[in-house]
Amino acid sequence: MAPLLDGYDALIVDADGVIYRGSVAVPFAVDALRASPVPWCLLTNNAALPPAAIAERIARLGLAIDPSNVVTSPQGAVAYLQEYGVPAGSPVLIVGGVGIDEAVSAAGYTPVRDRSVTPVAVVQGFGPEVGWRELSEAGYAITAGAVWVATNLDLSIPTEHGLAPGNGALVSAIQLAIGRAPDAVTGKPEPLLFTLAAERLGSSRPLVVGDRIDTDIQGANRAGMDSLLVLTGVAGAQELVDLIDADPQFRPIYIAEDLQALSGPVDAVRVAPDAPGSGPLAEVLRGLGRAWSKSDASGNVSDQVRQAIDAWARR
Ligand SMILES: [Mg+2]
Repeated sequence: MAPLLDGYDALIVDADGVIYRGSVAVPFAVDALRASPVPWCLLTNNAALPPAAIAERIARLGLAIDPSNVVTSPQGAVAYLQEYGVPAGSPVLIVGGVGIDEAVSAAGYTPVRDRSVTPVAVVQGFGPEVGWRELSEAGYAITAGAVWVATNLDLSIPTEHGLAPGNGALVSAIQLAIGRAPDAVTGKPEPLLFTLAAERLGSSRPLVVGDRIDTDIQGANRAGMDSLLVLTGVAGAQELVDLIDADPQFRPIYIAEDLQALSGPVDAVRVAPDAPGSGPLAEVLRGLGRAWSKSDASGNVSDQVRQAIDAWARR
């Protein structure tokens, strides 16, 4: 059987839930990426940290990555500004963490934190220090004509205490106040960051690896890329159940327990009606494959898939 990575020339890998959870490495992730036969880059919606800080965090887990191979949502935001025609040197109002200032500076813009110099654009991403004053400054600038780019619209951030407001919630606060939505959103599931990552790697056929269906998998599909869903982060039994009737834009090509799949055979993780192998995950792959191809006329596919997913969750 052919290895999974045959036919792919690069990996675009999500960070949280794929490489680490909090400050802890996800099992098998470090070894699997160290052994990767193809180049890989990291793609994250995290706007608070600059690439070097994220690379450092990964290095502490024992995995080396050059900061130039870390693609963040603020980089997508400045790519949008460049495409939109905002000239270099223009003042750009920042709402969020230092990761945004750094991306804006690196692209030749001047990051500002208030309206003393009239900003031509507002880039809004997550930062734990964002408060009323910054949100208000952004609202005034946007109302005065600045183009408004949000790095991502994740509504919540899971913390050790529960759910906290994510960038999407803070974007909504401005949107409710001024009565209009951002001009652009650049993070996953928008395709822009995926395209940027593939360009960075010189890749024409990358495989996207992620743990979230509504960002990683949907984004890969929108960018026209194949994807592997790993079950080490957000996606679990409920997300697999939701996949039974999911629209094609949410469907991964492959599903695996973890990144050990990267060195294994492609048939072990492909969602297909005739997926070989035994065990709970193989049942899930076959069940979803049947549900998506509707090739099973013999009975209620959904019930069979649900049973397979239950068996997987109890394994
Ligand atoms: Mg993730």
